[in-house]
Amino acid sequence: MERTLVLIKPDGVRRGLIGNVISRFESAGLKVCAIKMLVPSKELVSRHYADNEDWLRSVGSKAKKSSEAKGIVLKESEIELGQKVRSRLIKYLSSGPVICMAIEGNESIFAVRKIVGSTEPKSADPSSIRGSLSTDSYGLADSSDRPIKNIIHASEDYATASAEIKLWFSESELIEYKRADEEIVY
Ligand code: ADP
Repeated sequence: MERTLVLIKPDGVRRGLIGNVISRFESAGLKVCAIKMLVPSKELVSRHYADNEDWLRSVGSKAKKSSEAKGIVLKESEIELGQKVRSRLIKYLSSGPVICMAIEGNESIFAVRKIVGSTEPKSADPSSIRGSLSTDSYGLADSSDRPIKNIIHASEDYATASAEIKLWFSESELIEYKRADEEIVY
């Protein structure tokens, strides 16, 4: 069984989507093993979205591709674009209430990312959380000088999930228990 970190971002909390989001994971047989609400500090969010070259490049590259698809060529490098998105994210995530959860289950990192959907709600699978609960897009976010409001964050891979769970939770906040349906689900 794997554990992964999920954050319901301030847009998700303020839109009253906490129950909707959690029930999608629970319905898939995934177990909430830690949960809390907080307004995270800028310091915590900047450690979560770390100043990591690979991540900055990957975020910048997605932004470039999306602009090029609309015929707009961005002058900034991928890293510069990534840095711009990072500083907007730090400001945004520390601006309001966030629900932070550790979710456990069979291949939960992959399963949660699948239920969450791809980064841009406009083009995310319509049955995913992002695709069914938002229409936000790269274009609108960039022109409004803010990050994409895509309701949720979910860890990308095993190493990131372990590091992110350690960042947001202490060992004693991770609770082990058996769900009543575990023997049927597995
Ligand atoms: P994901 O959250 O799907 O793993 P990334 O790690 O690439 O996506 O980006 C982190 C977050 O940064 C996204 O969820 C989104 O809120 C925001 N974001 C990414 N790229 C952009 C962009 N070009 N413009 C605005 N916000 C962005």
